[in-house]
This record gives sequence, C-alpha cells and structure tokens, in this order.
Amino acid sequence: MAEVKKRLLMDKEAPNRSTKIVNGRSSNILNWDDVQFNWAYPKYKKMLGNFWTPFEINMSNDIKQFPQLTADEKQAFKKIIGLLALLDSIQTDYAGRIADYLTDSSLNALMIILAQQEVIHNHSYSYILSSLVSKDEQDEVFDFWRTEPVLEKRNDFVIKGYKQFAEEPTVEHMLDSIVYDVILEGLFFYSGFSFFYHLARNQKMVATSTMINYINRDEQLHVDLFVKIYKELLEEYPEYDTPERARKVEAIFREAAELEIEWGREVIGDKIDGLDSEDVEDYIYFYANVRCAQLGYERPFEGYRKNPMKWIKAYEDVDLGKTDFFEQRSRQYVKVNVQDNGFDEL
Ligand code: ZN
Ligand code: ZN
Repeated sequence: MAEVKKRLLMDKEAPNRSTKIVNGRSSNILNWDDVQFNWAYPKYKKMLGNFWTPFEINMSNDIKQFPQLTADEKQAFKKIIGLLALLDSIQTDYAGRIADYLTDSSLNALMIILAQQEVIHNHSYSYILSSLVSKDEQDEVFDFWRTEPVLEKRNDFVIKGYKQFAEEPTVEHMLDSIVYDVILEGLFFYSGFSFFYHLARNQKMVATSTMINYINRDEQLHVDLFVKIYKELLEEYPEYDTPERARKVEAIFREAAELEIEWGREVIGDKIDGLDSEDVEDYIYFYANVRCAQLGYERPFEGYRKNPMKWIKAYEDVDLGKTDFFEQRSRQYVKVNVQDNGFDEL
C-alpha cells in the first residue's frame, strides 16, 4: 500500500507551488498567488469570513429559559452538547494530523484555520454550559462520551476511521479517514442541529441555537474542503478509484446512518414535543445520501432525495454576511462586545 509522507519543513530546491497533493515536493513557502489548487484561496477567504466567537452572544434569555424546559428537553440538550464536545475535540486534532501529510502549504494553512474553528466550537459548548448549569453538571456532560453507551458506540465508529490513518498513514487510510470525516462533520452533527433548530423555531434557547447556526455554517465549509481533498487524492491516485471503494464507502455510510438513528432515538425519540422522530430519521437518511453523493458515489438509501424537514432550511442556509436573517425572524439576537455572557442582566 502506498505510504503518505510528511511535508518537509523546508525544501530549498522545490517550487513554492506543490507538485502533488501528497507525496509531492514543495518549498513549504506560502504565497497565496502561487498554490497548487485554484479553490484554496477562495476557500480561505470564506473561512475567514465566518469568524465568530461565543463572547459575542448574549446568553441572558437562555439563562432565563433553560429552567423552564421539560426534563426531556433538558436531557436532550445536555446529551447533544456532550456529543458535539467530543466530536469537535477529536476534529481539532485530526485536522492537525492530516495537515502534516498535505504537500501544499496552502492546504496546511486551511487545516490550521479549520482546526481553529473547531476550537471555537468547543469553546462555545463550555460557554453554553457554564451559563446554564453548575460546574459539576458541566463536567458530567463533558464525560458523556465515555459514560453513555449509545454515544460511546457511535463515537468509537469515527475514532476507528481516524486512528487507522494516524497509526498507518497510507493513501488508502487517508481516503478512508476523509470518509469518516465527512460523516463526522456532515452527518453526525445533524440530528443534534435539528433539535436546537426545533427549540429556536419555538422561540426557545435562541442564543444557543445562534451558536449552533454558526457551527453549522462552519461545518458546511469543512465538509466541502475535505470532499475537495478526497477528489484530488483520487485524481492523483486513480488506482484507488474503484468499484470496491465505492462499495466500501456506501457500507460505511449505512453503518453511520444506523448509529446516528439509534442515537437520535435515544435522545429525541418521541420525547420532544413537536419534533417527529420519523422526520429526524428521514433527515438522517437524506443527509447520508447527500454526503455520499458529494464524495462522488451512489446514494446508499433509495428515495430520500428531499429534505423532509423543510422548515430547517431557513436555519441551515443562514449566511450572516449577506442576510439579516436574525432580525427578520426576531430571534432576539444581540451582538455584545463585553467579556461576559449576560449574567449581569439577571
Ligand atoms: Zn466543529
Ligand atoms: Zn468541522
């Protein structure tokens, strides 16, 4: 199996623009006007344009509302935050690891920005919980990944895909790890997102949902970046672009969708008023199909071509730079420039 080699810190004889996506040569000097892929700079601009921090979001309304949620809503809220915290923590590290093997310095730069965004996502979970629950409860949520069996099973699945690449970096394992990445960033967040958007459309926990919106927006760019890397890898190593690989990817997506549905049943099920568990399941199948197709493969689930939760599109598609989405929907979004999260207003 073709090994992938780490990028050199400096190569005096190599061009600034890399010669291949992996195992190529590059001086490692970054000049955005002299990079291998023409999509890298537009992607960089978009990622920078997404910049946000949790400090900007005033939690005071959520602090007042949280005690009024039902016990099931509170439970789902905490479990989903616990899940997201694990995924974003792992993702920060994975981005750094894969970056070492990308020859072009611009792709390394994009991975560093991506990792920084994951750090901010993780920060937002601490920020949300420290506003809403006691320190003990917060610590408990950050341990759900090892104390909740269904969650553990689902996370082990992704980690397995990443670990293989980390321990034995080959082209095959790199391709596989990107499939797991697309599942992590493009599927495993989504039943969680739907829960928070459901609360928001009922005018509940709007500040938290605003952060989830920002995270969702970042993740869409991340998925697209990894899909591009996957396709360039196949372009350079066409011997891996086989029907066997297509079947393998499809099987991975099937397993992922089942795990996500099992998890969705546990945290959402029929416990959340107004959020239909069947819709959530269809939504998961729909997204599994979308992501598989993005990678260039057949959709694994027959049907499921349309988003079954139409109302969710307004939340998913938000682009804060171009629309006044939050004003339009009077989501009480308040941008603040203070170093607190609204405690003073209580
Ligand atoms: Zn993230
Ligand atoms: Zn991400």
